[in-house]
Amino acid sequence: MESQIPMLELGEQTESLWPELEKALREVVRSTRFILGPQLEAFERECAAYLGCAHAVGVSSGTDAIELALRAAGVGPGDEVITSPFTFFATGEAILETGATPVFADIDPRTFCLDPASVSAVIGPRTRAIVPVHLYGTSADLDALQSLCERHQLHLIEDTAQAFGARYRGKRLGSFGLGAFSFFPSKNLGAFGDGGLVTTSRADFAERLRQLRHHGQRDRYTQVSLGKTGRLDELQAAVLRVKLPHVERWNERRREIARRYCEELGGTPGLVLPAPAANADHVYHQFTLRVQGGRRDLVQGRLAERGVSAVVYYPQPLHKSPLYTQRAIELPEAERATAEVLSLPIWPEMKEQAQTRVIAALREVLERA
Ligand SMILES: *Cc1c(COP(=O)(O)O)cnc(C)c1O
Repeated sequence: MESQIPMLELGEQTESLWPELEKALREVVRSTRFILGPQLEAFERECAAYLGCAHAVGVSSGTDAIELALRAAGVGPGDEVITSPFTFFATGEAILETGATPVFADIDPRTFCLDPASVSAVIGPRTRAIVPVHLYGTSADLDALQSLCERHQLHLIEDTAQAFGARYRGKRLGSFGLGAFSFFPSKNLGAFGDGGLVTTSRADFAERLRQLRHHGQRDRYTQVSLGKTGRLDELQAAVLRVKLPHVERWNERRREIARRYCEELGGTPGLVLPAPAANADHVYHQFTLRVQGGRRDLVQGRLAERGVSAVVYYPQPLHKSPLYTQRAIELPEAERATAEVLSLPIWPEMKEQAQTRVIAALREVLERA
């Protein structure tokens, strides 16, 4: 029996950087400075430079990054926030946490990201922000979404959790509006635990974010607003500083693997391959296909029998969850996507032989399905 091919494998990356990581971790532990110290400050500076943003604020998770970005922009109870239903739970949760009401629009079937025409149709007098999700590692249609934001005076908050390092018209995602990033271990830049980041070009937003993540304090023991325990800690910042210089190379490896998948699976009947959005590149956080003809679950099961993991991100659109009031609306493209998508294993250190097995298994399964 051949070994199982997982969706991703983090061990080799840690191993390859271990001497540096160990040194960085040891220094933080010895310094006894664990919260709001020099590692976080340096990481924020380095990340802001890499992403091309004036300000970067480290927070405790990607979910908190979205929530705090919304709150820094003044979004709260009584407001509506338009977002995609085809995303991880966190996007909707973060909006609910602010007290605002999520309003779902449909997705573009080619990119899996928000469809600007569908967004435009649900903008109303209470709309305060649009939260596009740069799903799987490529961009939403930012030209169109930015012009909607300008026309209706809305905030743009990019859920960039899956797209660290990706670009749109040559600029990094997360630098168009407020950017919300996650450093969950499986993301393209992953910590050794939870972590997140908010980017912004506005100094006033950055200042508010620094207060909100630290109990709403303006200076020590002067509380000016309701904040939370929401900081990125020193150990995580130290790990992320070691990894940041490698992320460009890791994303390039992901693109190479994706290119091979596309070359060898192209033209297979019943498969639709992923492609970058117009004017964008792709960092392939996920390599996600559509399996047409109602065969997705069958194909997933048969791949598993052959030792190949493949996962459905996401099997249910958010608006069907009991947390939301919009359960009756129909968003046909999001619903169709949940029935067709299948993500294949991909990680920067994935060996050619493992790629070959994934490709061969998928071809064989499709011929027989
Ligand atoms: C991972 C993820 C988040 C949340 O990040 P956490 O760090 O796990 O809180 C938000 N949105 C999307 C699209 C994600 O993939």
